[in-house]
Amino acid sequence: MHATDRSRAAPGEPPRAQPEVVVIGAGPAGLMAAEAASMAGLAVDVFDAMPSAGRKFLLAGRGGLNLTHSEPLDAFLSRYGERRAQLEPLIRGFGPAELRDWAHALGVQTFIGSSGRVFPAEMKAAPLLRRWLHRLREAGVRLHMRHRWLGWAAAAGEAASGSDAPRAAPALAMLGPQGEFTLHAQAVVLAMGGASWARLGSDAAWVPLLEARGVHIKRLRPANCGFDVGTPQQPGWSEHFRERFAGRPLKSVAASIEGAANAPAPRQGEFVVTDSGIEGSLVYAFSAALRDTIEAAGSATLLLDLAPSRSQARLATELARPRGGRTLANHLRVRAGLEGVKAGLLRELLPAQDFADPERLAAAIKGLPLRLVAARPIDEAISTAGGVAFESLDEHLMLRALPGVFCAGEMLDWEAPTGGYLLTACFATGRVAGSAAAAWCRGQAPVRTPNGPASRPGAVRAFAASGNARTDA
Ligand SMILES: Cc1cc2nc3c(=O)[nH]c(=O)nc-3n(C[C@H](O)[C@H](O)[C@H](O)COP(=O)(O)OP(=O)(O)OC[C@H]3O[C@@H](n4cnc5c(N)ncnc54)[C@H](O)[C@@H]3O)c2cc1C
Repeated sequence: MHATDRSRAAPGEPPRAQPEVVVIGAGPAGLMAAEAASMAGLAVDVFDAMPSAGRKFLLAGRGGLNLTHSEPLDAFLSRYGERRAQLEPLIRGFGPAELRDWAHALGVQTFIGSSGRVFPAEMKAAPLLRRWLHRLREAGVRLHMRHRWLGWAAAAGEAASGSDAPRAAPALAMLGPQGEFTLHAQAVVLAMGGASWARLGSDAAWVPLLEARGVHIKRLRPANCGFDVGTPQQPGWSEHFRERFAGRPLKSVAASIEGAANAPAPRQGEFVVTDSGIEGSLVYAFSAALRDTIEAAGSATLLLDLAPSRSQARLATELARPRGGRTLANHLRVRAGLEGVKAGLLRELLPAQDFADPERLAAAIKGLPLRLVAARPIDEAISTAGGVAFESLDEHLMLRALPGVFCAGEMLDWEAPTGGYLLTACFATGRVAGSAAAAWCRGQAPVRTPNGPASRPGAVRAFAASGNARTDA
């Protein structure tokens, strides 16, 4: 059976009338939350709007699933920039080493690539997801696809009535194949992803639903994204360049940004020419700084070194040699090693007269300014910056405004470069939210007696004493 087919709830397995923990979103964060709550002995139901689980996770696996990174933990944590302080305790609890162990326990071996990135042996997400979903179902987790969370069924706090009633999370308004219904749970984990690739499920429709309940959402912005080149008046490449080179990769170039706050150090890599600009791993590495600079100043300049292995002086000497009967294209290829899209980019961006001056030509090859005027739309991005502000959450990722509701994954306000940092933080936050939801339930849950539920105030006190006390705003 196909991996994604197994994610559907088995026929005859309807949502529990009142699950203890409900998880909304069957991506890596939501599934990890479900696993953590289930391991704590709770009855867990997972709901997702899409027909199958983990669609973006499967897409991430197409280009080689980069699960995490093997660099020292301190360097690893620095990739989360301003959100390191909030994420560090969570990632220290379930970080790169724990994630690899977890994959191994699922029977998925991992290896460290030459860049230090960690991949599953098969490179893909599907085998891992298939095994994971199987293990979750065996543990009793119920998965319900084609079930969309629409919002709140009643005002916060209305779910619990009477002083003896157990505290519960706000009731949820759901839409499933049979129509709308109300779902009550003791704890809810929201793990609905960011705002990119909406067709895979993460459409950020949750933003107004949480804002309406007083949750602060930092504006969602593209992260690890492509950019449009040009000028604000005339964006894009020339027709000639676009027709010849759109889709072509520029391999082994170095890039840097001048004058941007918190700009990453210059680095070498590759990127691809698109219809209107550039995208790819080297661009993503600079994308946060480029995006912020464009927002502040209207444009940003990426400086490209098209010949990172040659010095400017050597290039100038070589290019000063007589051309004889050679064409300019041949001269550039023989003397500077530039041809194809690299030579095309030079011609696109450099004034014609500079080609006659070896010094200026060499300087341009070593530092070609490429003006970027807009980040590509968020739907095209690899990930999303912004989201649920950490000030709106307690240290267990519970919403201060909505006791019993926890958040995890990319919908939280953090960003990181590619390299496995995204998935690692999704898994880590999912783990914390799921465990905390379980602890919340244990503290608040009624003891099931033969005659029905009874409240359990002692457990509430124990929950508070263990340091897991709610922090209602
Ligand atoms: C092309 C691409 C390649 C990537 N490669 C990598 C990589 O190699 N390494 C890496 O670390 N990261 C990678 N990422 C990023 C990574 O896939 C995401 O960061 C990760 O999937 C986010 O996990 P999540 O669980 O928070 O959200 P998601 O995976 O987006 O899951 C959210 C789920 O919530 C569901 N949902 C949303 N709203 C509702 C609703 N109202 N009701 C019910 N369900 C809802 C969605 O259907 C979805 O299934 C890649 C991303 C892309 C686009």
